[in-house]
Amino acid sequence: MSDIKAIDKQFVANTYNRFPVEIVSGKGSVVRDETGKEYIDMGSGIAVTSFGVADDEWAAAVTEQLHRVQHMSNLYYTRPCALLAQRLCEKTGMKKVFFANSGAEANEGGIKAARKYAAEKKGADHFTIVTLKNSFHGRTITTLSATGQEHYHELFQPLTPGFVHADANDLEGTIALALEHKAAGILIECIQGEGGVVPLEKEYVQGLADFCAGEDVLLLVDEVQTGNGRTGAMYSYMNFGVQPDIVTTAKGLGGGLPLGAVLLGEKCEYVLGFGDHGSTFGGNPVCCAGALSVVERLTDDFLAEVKAKGEFVFKALSGASGVESVSGMGLMIGIQTVKPAGDVVKACMEQGVLCLTAKDKVRLLPALNIPADVLEKAVAVIKAACAVE
Ligand SMILES: *Cc1c(COP(=O)(O)O)cnc(C)c1O
Repeated sequence: MSDIKAIDKQFVANTYNRFPVEIVSGKGSVVRDETGKEYIDMGSGIAVTSFGVADDEWAAAVTEQLHRVQHMSNLYYTRPCALLAQRLCEKTGMKKVFFANSGAEANEGGIKAARKYAAEKKGADHFTIVTLKNSFHGRTITTLSATGQEHYHELFQPLTPGFVHADANDLEGTIALALEHKAAGILIECIQGEGGVVPLEKEYVQGLADFCAGEDVLLLVDEVQTGNGRTGAMYSYMNFGVQPDIVTTAKGLGGGLPLGAVLLGEKCEYVLGFGDHGSTFGGNPVCCAGALSVVERLTDDFLAEVKAKGEFVFKALSGASGVESVSGMGLMIGIQTVKPAGDVVKACMEQGVLCLTAKDKVRLLPALNIPADVLEKAVAVIKAACAVE
């Protein structure tokens, strides 16, 4: 074992079961380990490095800002923060942006906004947020509480009260639960990521949006994983024909630096006022400069390419030997394999392709700009690894 692996094992908290590989460098969708072996990266840091590793345009935007001013706190205006908020609103029709540092923190902000909105509109007893079973919303005590998977809860009781979990795609049941608990909001992932890359049914999402509009319950969409071009749309809700009241995002937004955002729609653009919320690092100018270079490249033409690449992967893997089903949208793809997903990922790694898992599936989240020939090469390796005799 190399020094770094031994030191890491001794001194880093044991929360991650790392693959036995130290990544030392890379370019685009190809990364290199400590022995010089190259891998095609089909995970992009869990949907974070939207334009791959060490992307020139992103790195130039980040370093330019780094040499101007790296941090000034939210007591002062900075250009990247303002321009990024403007772009995000232009691309979504949302009205205002609160910047955070991570997905969990973005969800915390969205939940606070929904609670304050409902308390002011309907009374302090309207605090409950309905989320879905099999969802994932983060690791803080409150976002764990929002996460509809019991096994994340067990060791960390008591969790934050005020969350109930509905069955995904059960519209009547979800509405009944929202009414029974005087819900402030309904929080969904349009495609459950950690839950196994499971898209919700379009009619269900539209039914929730109609209910929310009718009852003045806020619709919150967690776009932490699905957002920022990942599904071939700027945000995944756009594939479902709805307009949320609150959108939370992070992961791919910063392109590799920590950045989260809460996008507030018309109903709640003024709900968070002076002193209601804050974050020391949120909206950091270096992170925002990187994000701006990501967001400005997510044009309609570029997103159409993401969609086409996703369709290529779907076609190549659907019906292949050892593949039971393929799910997802754009370049967010889950593969139900006959072999255990972990075995497929291990075999791919040996052949120079890095994949992820989600539940019992193999999960692919490559860089959005992965070149077609590199993608083809990776898919051939994955296909071979899935195959059964
Ligand atoms: C990853 C993820 C989160 C948590 O994001 P962090 O940046 O790890 O806090 C929340 N929601 C969804 C849907 C995610 O995929």
